[in-house]
Amino acid sequence: DGPSARPSTWPRPGRNLKAVLCQRCGSRVLLPGAATFTCRELLLPAMRKKAPAPADGSDGDVVREHWLVRDMFSFENVGFTRDVGNVKFLVCADCEAGPIGWHCVDDKDSFYVALERVAHE
Ligand SMILES: [Zn+2]
Repeated sequence: DGPSARPSTWPRPGRNLKAVLCQRCGSRVLLPGAATFTCRELLLPAMRKKAPAPADGSDGDVVREHWLVRDMFSFENVGFTRDVGNVKFLVCADCEAGPIGWHCVDDKDSFYVALERVAHE
């Protein structure tokens, strides 16, 4: 029982075994194995419906489970919102559903994709 012990409910910490897809249009965001599972508390604006999400951040969710991508070129398809402070949000490149993830411009090698905001195939 070292510090790396994990709850048995999470079968295999590590890389994504399935492709990551847009929940709305099914566009492929990541290929299997392109990302690693990580836990970090990040505030994501609520999923956009028709109007853009409010800029004051009052309408959002704290998301803890993410796929962490170290290289932007690992994405099959992804779009970015304009900067909000030093943060960009990831959206579907095809239908702009999102935000599905989070990126801080101060940490260029870390792209977070929220598990609960994407589909897995
Ligand atoms: Zn989409």
